[in-house]
Order: sequence, then structure tokens, then C-alpha cells
Amino acid sequence: MNLIEYTFSGRKVRYFLDTSFSRLKDVVSTQNMVIITDENVHRFHPELADFQLIVIPAGEQYKTQATVDTIIAQLIALEAVRKTVLVGIGGGVITDITGFTASIYMRGLSFGFVPTTILSQVDASIGGKNGIDRGLYKNMVGVIRQPDFILFDPSLLQSLPHDQWVNGFAEIIKHACIKDIGLFELLEQHRLEDFMHDSSLLTDMIKRNVVIKSNVVAADEFESGDRKLLNFGHTIGHAIENLYQLPHGHAVSIGMAWACSLSEKLNGFDTQGHERVKRLLQQYLLPTTFLLDTEKVFEVLKMDKKRVGASINFVLLNNIGEAVVKPILLSQLDTLIAET
Ligand code: NAD
Repeated sequence: MNLIEYTFSGRKVRYFLDTSFSRLKDVVSTQNMVIITDENVHRFHPELADFQLIVIPAGEQYKTQATVDTIIAQLIALEAVRKTVLVGIGGGVITDITGFTASIYMRGLSFGFVPTTILSQVDASIGGKNGIDRGLYKNMVGVIRQPDFILFDPSLLQSLPHDQWVNGFAEIIKHACIKDIGLFELLEQHRLEDFMHDSSLLTDMIKRNVVIKSNVVAADEFESGDRKLLNFGHTIGHAIENLYQLPHGHAVSIGMAWACSLSEKLNGFDTQGHERVKRLLQQYLLPTTFLLDTEKVFEVLKMDKKRVGASINFVLLNNIGEAVVKPILLSQLDTLIAET
């Protein structure tokens, strides 16, 4: 297995890259393991039947405390104890909810992830943010706690519907915009289909993104500095995701296009760069515009976790590959949303 290790706040996380799901049994003993997955992943992967399993309904609308409660009831029924290891096998909803449940059940179990969407392989499984939504407010309740391991099996992506491939590339483009102009240029040279059909191109892409996110988190696990940059596109993105029931990647894509306009207005980001980002998002079939209700969006934004007093911290671009955090007054934001 291709093993790399990252240390976050003194805690080691093992990444098994470009490996096979069948190796999970070598990482955790089957006896101690309880797998949490969703109905879609369960349907596509009958091999999961060999394990102690908790299956929850699929979708963001189930990333809630009510679902956590049903998982806890099933853990008790399975007689899960402190040495039980929870393994979340699925997309970002499953990894977020598994990490959260593992962090609170019996004051904390060990856990690991087998991410099965592009988005969860390049982003959601990495970095230790685990949580649930509360009504319209995304990830309102949660913890930062690292998994013991993440096992990456690119072949699990074969059953992924096309729209979920599109969804995942929003976070890849985000990484390129904030940290890696070379990655941006590579993406410009390709189409989504290239990555769907060329496994070595895909494996390299996943690894490159895993490294980008892990390096940012390793340098600033508790988001006092550079980790904030990973929120590029997410402030507006999160506000509209649950409000309009948009796929996460679509919401983030619209948020990034919006943040580019704002970067042009407030941060001297050049028009050409703005156009390039929009073109790349569209090249990967992502939306860049959305007709939104300014007042409703503003109401959700006011409760954003990045709010500090009368301002919200926004991630803006200086250049492609170089981002910066700027506080924007709520009073100013109201007008800016209406204008953009
Ligand atoms: P998701 O977990 O809802 O998965 C998307 C869909 O794909 C679901 O219907 C799922 O059942 C299905 N699916 C998953 N794997 C499959 C497979 N291999 N084959 C077929 N179908 C499959 O969503 P997502 O896009 O993976 O993740 C979005 C979530 O991730 C959001 O809740 C977001 O807040 C969270 N997130 C968290 C972080 C973090 O740092 N913790 C970062 C980014 C996103």
C-alpha cells in the first residue's frame, strides 16, 4: 500500500493512497469495526455485507442530529464499546457524520474513512472537520478531530454518477485557485472526461489535491490563518446550498464566481483572471450564476461561522493561485450581494 503519514496537533493520520478497499481488513480488525455508509453506496457495493453495518439514507438533508441519534441507537444495539472503530464509507455527508458521531459516542471512539466521491477524496475526508447541519445552517454543530486513517481506492469512483464527478471538481478548482496555478493550467488543458477515463491522470489529480489540503491543514489545523483560504467560494456557497437545495459543488462554484467578482471590485484581481476562473468552472460543467433572493441569503450569511462582529471574513483572490482573507462589513455586503 502507498502509505503517507501526516501529523496534526501531534496526532498521526495514515493515508493509504491508490489502494484497494479489500485492504481495509488489514488496517482495522473486522471484529472491532462498525461501518457507517449510505443507501446508495450500500447498493453499489454488496461486499459491505461482510461487515457490521449501519446504513443511513443518502443526502445532505440527513446530515442532522436526528440521524446521529439513530446511529447512536444502533451502536448501542451492536454493543459498540470504546475499542470499536467507526469507519465512514461514502461521500462527504458520511465522513462528516461518522467523524462527528465517533467524537461524541462514549466521549470518543477511533475512526477512519474510505471516501467514495471525488469531493470526499480530495477534500471532505481530510482535515478533521466533522459535523452536522442545523436547519439552513451548514456545519453549524461539529468538532475538529482527526481520523486514524483514510483509505483511498480510486476504483470506488466507478459507480459515481456523472453529476457527482462534476460536483467534486468544484473543490479541485478551488484548490487550484487559492494555491496552485500549475494545477489550474493542467485543468485548463483537460476535460472532465479525461479524468473519468484515464486512471493514472485521476490518481495523480487526487494525490495532488490530498497534498494541497493536508499541507494547509497541517500548518493551521484550527483555522487561525491559512486554513481560512479553503473557504474560498464557501461563504456564499454555504448560504445558498441548503436554502436552494443545491449540490455542494454547484453552490461552491457559484460562490467562487461571486468571490471573483468581489475580488475584482475590492481587491484588484484582474478581469482576465476572473474570466479564466469562470471559463474553467464552465469547462467542468459547473454553474457560475444563480438568481438568488438577496434578503434570504443575507439572513443566512449573518449567522456564518466566519462572522466577526459587524464583518464577515471573505476569501478573495489576488491572482490565480494566490488568495487572501479580507473582512467585509455586513452593511457593505448587503449592497454587494444585490449588485453582483
Ligand atoms: P454526499 O456524501 O451526499 O455524496 C453525494 C452522492 O453520491 C450521494 O447521493 C451518495 O449516496 C452518492 N455516492 C457516494 N459515493 C458513491 C459511489 N461510489 N457510487 C455511487 N454513488 C455514490 O456528498 P459529497 O458531495 O461527497 O460531500 C458533500 C458534503 O461534504 C457536504 O455536506 C459538505 O459540507 C461536506 N464537506 C466537508 C468538508 C470537511 O472538511 N469536513 C469539506 C468539504 C465538504
